[in-house]
Amino acid sequence: MSRSEHLLLPRQLYQAMVNHAQAEAPNECCGLLAGTIEGPVLRVEKSHPLVNEAASAVEYRSEPRSMFRAMKDMRTLGHEIVAIYHSHPISEPIPSRTDLERNYSPDVVNFIIGLQGAVPNVRGWWLLESGFEEAAWEIVEPLADSRRVTKEGNLATE
Ligand SMILES: [Zn+2]
Repeated sequence: MSRSEHLLLPRQLYQAMVNHAQAEAPNECCGLLAGTIEGPVLRVEKSHPLVNEAASAVEYRSEPRSMFRAMKDMRTLGHEIVAIYHSHPISEPIPSRTDLERNYSPDVVNFIIGLQGAVPNVRGWWLLESGFEEAAWEIVEPLADSRRVTKEGNLATE
């Protein structure tokens, strides 16, 4: 399976992820970004904040019921996991040794929201067996993307 090359993240979902990180501080937050895979492009359609049952400033463990709800919603909408995220309230947004050991999948982008500075610093990573590398991603403005508006219209009628 070839790895995707680029992730598109609608601005309001980017903002929801940052807001979640700030709301959970000083503990770490965690969550999923669900969406579709179109060839080399990962397109985020929905964010699923999860409960960090570790309730810790230095690690996260997704609480099973919140994970189950997210997976059920994804099945209904035909979404796949395209990214996971968590925060680093007191350290750089760079994968820790624990993050590398717990690597969920080499095929999803791992966002880390760093909260140590004056403004949140979000970075996306591919976690590999041999280490990690920065992922290519960008924030998209929903109204500039007509395909997304169509998709939202479809979802609204369900
Ligand atoms: Zn981490």
